[in-house]
Amino acid sequence: MITCKELAQKIKNEVKSVINAFTENGFKKPRLVIFSNEAPDGLRYIRNKVKVAEEVGIEAEVLNVKSNMTFDEIKNTIAKQYDATGVIVQLPFTGDKNKDQELIDCIPYDQDVDGLKGGVVPATALGIYEYLKENDLINGKRITIIGRSKLVGMPLAKMLLETDATVTLCHSKTTDLQCHTLEADVIVSAVGKINLINQSLLWFDQGYHIVDVGINFDEDGIMCGDVADDVRGMDNVTCTPVPGGVGLLTTACLMKNTLSLYSK
Ligand code: NAP
Repeated sequence: MITCKELAQKIKNEVKSVINAFTENGFKKPRLVIFSNEAPDGLRYIRNKVKVAEEVGIEAEVLNVKSNMTFDEIKNTIAKQYDATGVIVQLPFTGDKNKDQELIDCIPYDQDVDGLKGGVVPATALGIYEYLKENDLINGKRITIIGRSKLVGMPLAKMLLETDATVTLCHSKTTDLQCHTLEADVIVSAVGKINLINQSLLWFDQGYHIVDVGINFDEDGIMCGDVADDVRGMDNVTCTPVPGGVGLLTTACLMKNTLSLYSK
């Protein structure tokens, strides 16, 4: 199987070579503007996005929102990034979901590189889709997705259905998760709960491919996914790692989305 790391590198190489072709022909580099509220958690993700952007030839600028700016001034600044190819508001931003949504609403449709408005497919869903496609894990497969968010589960389910997988989409009100995992070929867990995917959800003699999207921190502050360690150790299971799995695909696909807005 091609790993997330290998696939992320392949996507970045493709993006880089297309951007090179543009810039060699006199076009300006694509430009990504990231709005940050300087929260330490967000900064870690932002640093990574900037690093990968530079790697593929995208200019990335981080705009730290100063505490003396009013909410309206922030909204205005987000709306007026005329030179940017893509605009990102690193969420959570204000601590209030409704206010965060107001900020997202200010991003012009053609600069919405995170795909929050439907112009491009959100990078995480796109990355998982590419991973499953590359490993021939879509057509005719039974795929159970756990988590129905607008950024991951929903868009992924739609793409997989359109490419002939049989898809089950589970969520917090799903009464019997086991019933939907046992007979699956592929399980995608996008919830954010440690040990959600444990041995009770799987047979011991049937093969499973698991994509672990979850990002959690254990009691020692170590990053881990939704899949329990004993599941990762099962002979009949392949599972993407956390860290070093879906996160790499997400960043690579964010660059792919930037390129697609730039090309348009
Ligand atoms: P989200 O918006 O909070 O959605 C979580 C989903 O999980 C919801 O649909 C929720 O159901 C469902 N859920 C909660 N508890 C459940 C349970 N016990 N059983 C079944 N379903 C349950 O989160 P998200 O943004 O999609 O992110 C999900 C996880 O992926 C988080 O850990 C996030 O950090 C991680 N993530 C990772 C990457 C990456 O690049 N690696 C990118 C994005 C997200 P309801 O709809 O009923 O509430």
